[in-house]
Amino acid sequence: MAFAARSGGLATARSVAALRVRVGDWRADGHTVALVPTMGALHRGHGALIEAARRIADRVIVSLFVNPTQFGPSEDFQAYPRDEGRDAAFCDDLGVDLLFAPTVTEMYPAGFATSIRVAGLTEGQCGAFRPGHFDGVATVVAKLFTQARPDSALFGEKDFQQLAVIRRLNRDLDLGVNVVGVPTVREADGLALSSRNAYLSADERRIAPALYRSLQDAARAIAGGARVPAACAEAREQVLKAGFASVDYVECVDVDSLKPLVEFEPARPARILAAARLGRARLIDNLAVIG
Ligand code: AMP
Repeated sequence: MAFAARSGGLATARSVAALRVRVGDWRADGHTVALVPTMGALHRGHGALIEAARRIADRVIVSLFVNPTQFGPSEDFQAYPRDEGRDAAFCDDLGVDLLFAPTVTEMYPAGFATSIRVAGLTEGQCGAFRPGHFDGVATVVAKLFTQARPDSALFGEKDFQQLAVIRRLNRDLDLGVNVVGVPTVREADGLALSSRNAYLSADERRIAPALYRSLQDAARAIAGGARVPAACAEAREQVLKAGFASVDYVECVDVDSLKPLVEFEPARPARILAAARLGRARLIDNLAVIG
């Protein structure tokens, strides 16, 4: 079976068959299993997911897979940072039990022809700017869930639309996984940790926290009674003034439907979401609007 042991004892499964053998052994011993899907280039944000997974399950699997089907043709699939040795050491330190690092052909063998689309939730925000992205995400997460059959799977609120899509997919296809959202981990200056922050130059890195600051200002303004479209427009202006090249969107949405709100009602949970471009990076962020 395709296991490669590491010095620290953390094994890596390269094939679905090897993954299933390991999970089957755990199940036979009565253990619960949590899955943390990632694209690698791990940082403290991923670490928070792993720690949350360890609190709710006996065994933790981290998948490392840069999923080609969720990248558009002009996106950064080739450039995406990859360092499996470093990621393995990071996981080992956090007490992960198994890495699942399949090849592209293991996940998408010749003849692969199935794609999963979650309608509605994928149409706005990032879905409008990254056609096909969420189909790639939904398809690979459905595969990971059926490959590993975890009790729980953990995802970051940083990718808020992705989390909503996965919750919907899990319900709609009766995948039966306990999908857990984990709050965004940030740098001291507020920038959300992201593998793509590695693309930022020193100057861009200084500009980057403006995205979070402008969302904070907008969320405060909306909660204080400002009109939603005006507050979002102001946030967009702030981000551009700080030095971002362009803003894809700033929207205040209903947390369940992700439909943009025209008016904020404190009784109805809302979230402000944004994506903006800075140098080679496209940064996203979001936060709750609390009335
Ligand atoms: P990625 O490797 O970027 O695809 O992310 C894998 C998982 O980590 C996703 O569920 C992300 O939402 C989550 N994640 C990424 N960055 C953060 C962060 N700063 N805080 C919390 N979770 C994060």
